[in-house]
Amino acid sequence: MAMIPDKVIEDTVVEILRLAVTKLPADVEAALRRIYEEEKEPASKMQMQAILENLKLAEETGTPLCQDTGIHVFFVRLGAGCGDIEGLIRKGVERATKEVPLRPNAVHPVTRRNPGQNLGVHMPYIYYEPGSGGCLEITVMPKGAGSENMSQLAMLTPSAGVKGIKEFALNTLLRAGSNPCPPILIGMGIGGSADICMGLAKKALLRPVGSSNPDPDLARLERELFEALNGIGIGPMGLGGKNTLLGFHIEHAFCHTASHPVAVNIQCWAARKATARIFPDGRVEYLTHDVKAGRQQGSRAAGKKGGR
Ligand code: SF4
Repeated sequence: MAMIPDKVIEDTVVEILRLAVTKLPADVEAALRRIYEEEKEPASKMQMQAILENLKLAEETGTPLCQDTGIHVFFVRLGAGCGDIEGLIRKGVERATKEVPLRPNAVHPVTRRNPGQNLGVHMPYIYYEPGSGGCLEITVMPKGAGSENMSQLAMLTPSAGVKGIKEFALNTLLRAGSNPCPPILIGMGIGGSADICMGLAKKALLRPVGSSNPDPDLARLERELFEALNGIGIGPMGLGGKNTLLGFHIEHAFCHTASHPVAVNIQCWAARKATARIFPDGRVEYLTHDVKAGRQQGSRAAGKKGGR
């Protein structure tokens, strides 16, 4: 199997980090523009206008659209020969921290020591999946603390059923209030075990905003929860208004008959993500952003979909 050159992978990691923190993917921007159009009250309208102006400025100046450039969670699909993928991602994060630049957010959890490069034990964190078609696909999700801190896991009893899921979603949103910088995207995991469930909630945030789960029962639950929670009145940046949510996505896994895990992972209006697909010949295609040809060796504009 042909090996993708290390330099292409490292450069691509730097590029998707730059893209993720300076420009939102088309699906997220479209959801923010829709909410701007729908908001009528001066306070919520003004907040949405500020968010949209911020997006424009960040893109024009190439600077991060929020000062909290997050910690860095990667999702890698391995379908091609490559070298030390973890080492290359770490090199890319270290370079992007200097070159973009990114705020150094990663600290030791007990001593709070900050090495200053966004690197540490298990940071950046990498989820691996088998890929196909001979390609390597890398997604980065920079995750700010304001939204992440509002995430919750509940190990419900099976008798709590769907009613328990809905109550948990509502209580999590009420507890979060304006802290996660609404309008927010809610990722919900249902099933698996405690760790699997939380991972599913995070993965749900990668789907294009407003997309539906292919399982019709889960798609119906997504719709019901979106409609029930969107109009709760928290509104853009917590100042009231018609829209609190960008979307509500659910991912699931089968679980033990005696378990009923439910998790919520919240993403703020700055719902950042960027995905690149690297072909065995070193060509790079950006799946979430419209990158001008020639900006990076072998890259070409894509921008066909908002995630995976
Ligand atoms: S929650 Fe999101 S928008 Fe708010 S400060 Fe953190 S990264 Fe920025």
